[in-house]
Amino acid sequence: MVVVRGFFVPQTPIYKKEYMQKRTLVSDSVKHVGEVIALQGWVATKRDHGKVTFIDLRDRSGIIQCVGYKMLGDVTPESVVELVGLVKERPTKMVNTDLATGSVELEVQSYTILNKSTELPIQVSEDGINENEEVRLRYRYLDLRRERMQDTIRLRSKFIREVREALYTHDFVEIETPMLTKSTKEGSRDFVVASRLQPGKFYALPQSPQQYKQLLMTAGFERYFQVARCVRDEDLRADRGFEFTQLDLEMSFVGQQDVMDTIENTVKTAVNAVGGKLQTETFPVFTYEETMKKYGADRFDLRSEEEKKDGTLAFAWVIKFPFFKKVDKTDAAEVRDGKSGWTFTHNPFSAPLPEFLEDHMAGKNIENILTSQYDLICNGYEVGGGSVRAHKAEELMQTFKIMGYSEAEVEDSVGHMLAAFKVGTPPHGGIALGIDRLVMLLTQQQSLKEAIAFPMTSSGKTAVMDAPAHITEEQLKELHIRIVEK
Ligand code: ASP
Repeated sequence: MVVVRGFFVPQTPIYKKEYMQKRTLVSDSVKHVGEVIALQGWVATKRDHGKVTFIDLRDRSGIIQCVGYKMLGDVTPESVVELVGLVKERPTKMVNTDLATGSVELEVQSYTILNKSTELPIQVSEDGINENEEVRLRYRYLDLRRERMQDTIRLRSKFIREVREALYTHDFVEIETPMLTKSTKEGSRDFVVASRLQPGKFYALPQSPQQYKQLLMTAGFERYFQVARCVRDEDLRADRGFEFTQLDLEMSFVGQQDVMDTIENTVKTAVNAVGGKLQTETFPVFTYEETMKKYGADRFDLRSEEEKKDGTLAFAWVIKFPFFKKVDKTDAAEVRDGKSGWTFTHNPFSAPLPEFLEDHMAGKNIENILTSQYDLICNGYEVGGGSVRAHKAEELMQTFKIMGYSEAEVEDSVGHMLAAFKVGTPPHGGIALGIDRLVMLLTQQQSLKEAIAFPMTSSGKTAVMDAPAHITEEQLKELHIRIVEK
């Protein structure tokens, strides 16, 4: 220390980042017995025994025990530190078989606190399963440090990577579609975004990339996929927020079986790669009629009690759904979409099964028309769904006519699709898989929120940040919006 006019000035700079030592990962420490190495990470636990202080240091690769003699007293749990020290073999009877690094420990020679942690609002060493959701999500960055959450989010990343690689090997092209778009009919309420430059006009956030992915088939890509974010203003449930992620794909020159085979193989490859257990090598196929008779629902659980315990995934397909249903008068979106009293069951862009095309075009026997929709079920949940699409303008037009739209209204709503369907759109079909749900099932958890890094609270508040929030008068003015009190 030097003293300048009564102040102590540290001679080493306070910001030591550029002086950090060359890092060794905790998991590699066992390869450096007898050497001095530098480890950087978090203080998982600290045990003070007077002259000796033990620290379990955690980084992305693992945990190691570190010992300091007459030092480390000022280190607090969950602080970020750099420890420089000698890797020592532990005596045989002291080996900790629970740790991959249990045969060694680091005898600390010097250390730097890179970021000192204050007292923690939640305990990282606990699994947090029964902890208050608001608290967990307010401090999600700490919650995510928990081993269970680290494992889940890392498995999610690996699963998506495996899916991507499987699709790339089959000639798929990954393409992003717009986030600011026009309302797409997926049967939910839209989230809207005000336009600053065009007063009184609004964009809608995508409920799914449905229409754009079909337009990519018109554009000649033939095989598209995207890990797509979708936003739907649906009533919140305990385990569901407004946003979700789906693996979205579309293929040209295919029928129902081709899309089902592609997705079945992709799912099997990715599930196996992350260590998931499949009940059957081939997913059984049921018709909607069969499942309603047998299970009274179109989602069902095929697992035995034993399989429920060991985390088996029981996939199945459901096909041959009715295309239309009577509007549920309590559902605002259905009332809006189904002007004739009929609305679509799954997707208005689907084609009817070929044997029902004649009735479809004639608007006859509407209640009997079956659609090319296929749903993928797993452990009692719907984890995916798609269909072969109408790719001729008159077929799509007719679907909307059955729902009571005039030609002018159809033009206004999906005129761009009708136009594309008149300039060489190939027959095509696709599907979307719910990534959040699959990861939840793969990691045997009870809530979708456990599978998402920053999910919403049950009351629709964002994790960590306080949204929805007020915006300034100035922002409102710029957007030409005035808030009217109810
Ligand atoms: N767009 C549909 C959905 O998001 C999936 C599909 O038919 O491809 O549910």
